[in-house]
Amino acid sequence: MEKIFLYNTLNRKKEEFKPIKKDKVGLYACGPTVYDYAHIGNLRTYIFEDVLRRVLEYNNYKVKYIMNITDVGHLTSDADEGEDKLEKSSQKESKTVEEIAEFYTKAFKENLKDLNILFPDKWCKATDYIKEQISFVKKLEKKGLTYQISDGVYFDISKYPAYAKLAKLNIEGQKEGARVGINKEKRNPTDFALWKLSALQGTHPERSEELHKKRQMEWKSPWGVGFPGWHLECSAMSIKHLGKEFDIHCGGIDHIPIHHTNERAQNWGVTDKETVKYWLHGEFLVINKERMGKSERNFVTLQTLKAKGLNPLAYRYFVLQAHYRSKLNFSWEALKAAQNGLDNLIKEISTFDPPKIGCAEFEQRFLQAINDDLDTPKTLAILQELIKSDYPSSAKRQTIIKFDKILGLNLNQYKQEKRLNSKIKELIEERQLARQKKDFKTADKIRRELEKQGIKIKDKADGGYELE
Ligand code: AMP
Ligand code: ZN
Repeated sequence: MEKIFLYNTLNRKKEEFKPIKKDKVGLYACGPTVYDYAHIGNLRTYIFEDVLRRVLEYNNYKVKYIMNITDVGHLTSDADEGEDKLEKSSQKESKTVEEIAEFYTKAFKENLKDLNILFPDKWCKATDYIKEQISFVKKLEKKGLTYQISDGVYFDISKYPAYAKLAKLNIEGQKEGARVGINKEKRNPTDFALWKLSALQGTHPERSEELHKKRQMEWKSPWGVGFPGWHLECSAMSIKHLGKEFDIHCGGIDHIPIHHTNERAQNWGVTDKETVKYWLHGEFLVINKERMGKSERNFVTLQTLKAKGLNPLAYRYFVLQAHYRSKLNFSWEALKAAQNGLDNLIKEISTFDPPKIGCAEFEQRFLQAINDDLDTPKTLAILQELIKSDYPSSAKRQTIIKFDKILGLNLNQYKQEKRLNSKIKELIEERQLARQKKDFKTADKIRRELEKQGIKIKDKADGGYELE
């Protein structure tokens, strides 16, 4: 097997990837919070994760890929304050939280399909794992890592000596931070909520019947009625499906200081281990040097992009032109240039002969580049070089089909006129005649002959045919 190198945020260096179990990889990626449409910044991260998964599979690993759907617990501030994003949307759109979650989950999955992002093996909805999350907190409590204050149960980060490692946090510096509201009750400023109590509980600072009635998502727990802290779902679900130690966890870079740092602390609390071996993070899509984001109000959705007549795969191509660890600046001009670039590429490839014996030299170089921390810009340069090379076009096509297993750009398209040379046209006519005479034996024989020439024919009920 070829070696794979990945940049591990935990150790801030590129490391050779060594799976925990031979030939298998457990992979977890933080999924969307389904209160609104995903924007193309979010989707950049999912493209990076899709490339990672495809690379692992290309290298013959059996990948178990889990992604969560956050449908509860993600508050408007990452610091356990504000409203639940789903509850807020539900009020705004006058729908139930379930309707909101279902609607935006569907929209998200459509985005993935449009971008040729392969689905994970399992989707996990946070609300389907409340029992597991409660039992996770119980385990942490038993180990003396938690404490309760008026609005919930918190993790005491001072109990975890390696808390700051993933994000290289300056914990001492943070002690001086603002101590207002619930922060006054917390032992350490970065302590985070495991279980948030309902606004109806005894000493809750926002105790109110009205607030409680508005809230749709609450469950009973040993600490009182409430809902899980946002970080908890990913720990509970990843460990449940991938085990106490698993290979790779990824997400966008914004998750390093809070969400993943807290997940890592909880994981350690329950497993006594460094549960995740490789933490991988994708850089931001930016627009005029500012992060694309909902709160920044500068976001573009894939739906808008399509409405402008642009191909979602042009966006995928645009994303692959940058390394996943570099910032990528979005502009409509750059996206249009990517669309032209991709169209030209596909046009040129469509004239190539049907695939036959690939170009080993290029395949090797491609593999080395992609295995070197997913260097997609380099692989695209190799693709261009291959197209310009002197190899027969049938060999180029064969190799491009392989490249596309990772690039996912639908590069293997044919130009109909070129394919239908006179011999093929004759064969198709002969086959049509055989079909009319109900001579299916001959028709099948010709079908096989056509397939050998790279032509797939599909019969229609009205006696006609279609070429695939
Ligand atoms: P969210 O739905 O907010 O949890 O975000 C989903 C994913 O998108 C997370 O992995 C984020 O880290 C990532 N993300 C958010 N904003 C951007 C951005 N501007 N560029 C790339 N990834 C982003
Ligand atoms: Zn997560």
